Amino acid sequence: MDTERAKKLRRDLLEWYDSSARSLPWREKPTPYRVWISEIMLQQTRVETVKPYFEKFMREVPTIEDLAVINDDQLMKVWEGLGYYSRAKNLKRAAQIIVEKYNGVFPAELEEIQSLPGIGPYTAGAVGSIAFGIPIPAVDGNVLRVITRLTGSYEDIHEKETKTEISKVVQDILSTQRAGDFNQALMELGATICVPNGAPKCEHCPIQRSCEGHQQGIAQEIPMKTPKKLRRIEKLTVFIIKVKDRIALRRRPEEGLLAKLWEFPHVQGHLSTEECLAYLQKRKLLPNNIQPLGPSKHLFTHLEWHMIGYCIQLDELVETEEVSWLGVTEINDQYSLPTAFKQYKKYM
Ligand code: SF4
Repeated sequence: MDTERAKKLRRDLLEWYDSSARSLPWREKPTPYRVWISEIMLQQTRVETVKPYFEKFMREVPTIEDLAVINDDQLMKVWEGLGYYSRAKNLKRAAQIIVEKYNGVFPAELEEIQSLPGIGPYTAGAVGSIAFGIPIPAVDGNVLRVITRLTGSYEDIHEKETKTEISKVVQDILSTQRAGDFNQALMELGATICVPNGAPKCEHCPIQRSCEGHQQGIAQEIPMKTPKKLRRIEKLTVFIIKVKDRIALRRRPEEGLLAKLWEFPHVQGHLSTEECLAYLQKRKLLPNNIQPLGPSKHLFTHLEWHMIGYCIQLDELVETEEVSWLGVTEINDQYSLPTAFKQYKKYM
């Protein structure tokens, strides 16, 4: 893009951002800590969903020092509902490194930011530019879409080479004086005007006159869609086992999907009521009532859980190594159950 065109685009985009940017909690007082936490939360999660989680996180874990020493269960509780729990674990590991290596002060050098756990090129770009004014691109899904439309490119945005190319375009047009605002303006444009689903709202777009995709009438065909990979399907039967006010929960393994989180016991496959009874009897759990709870589905990135559930009432508490018996209030206050079980939580 020639210099004059880039200059105009920068000016139009920043003017629009100054007058139209949404007011978001992390944009007030954009300290490195607040920007970092919000950017990690915003990965794979919508802005509206993140807002209350961000406010809660800032109330309960207000500083890097607090994050470095937070108890794992407490951390999972604050994160409960956001999913992708490895993000929270990386936050804590990064906070510990910041405390040990940088005296609790978020590092301001790009290389140091990039070396922290859970921080990839996008997050480094976002934190670096927004919190420290470093003139580097922050290329997320919104920016990929805006730039391919802006340049009229049909390249596949899932390809590494395309992402590298787009990063170069952003680097060329980036405002060196207001790098953070420029990156946020591109993302904001992608979220509100140059939208992912449906037609882009070019008639309201501040950079319409610089946009190749719009000028050539091809904006709506861009970016090219690639067929999605099919997710593996796992069938599960989930048990809500109750004895008076106690519920059976167990901890997931140390590694892998939803590592170390608490969950309702469950087995592979969809069990009939008879099979469910046999499963319980084998464990010396003698129910006085078994109630089917119906189906529920949860999507992970590469996996779908297709669940059915049973609510099981026992007369007597039986100690087993497989589960812990916990009070409902205790679970609600202190234990984080993965969102996957949300549908069954109400039967506790
Ligand atoms: Fe997107 Fe249309 Fe603006 Fe181009 S003119 S950036 S396609 S909204």
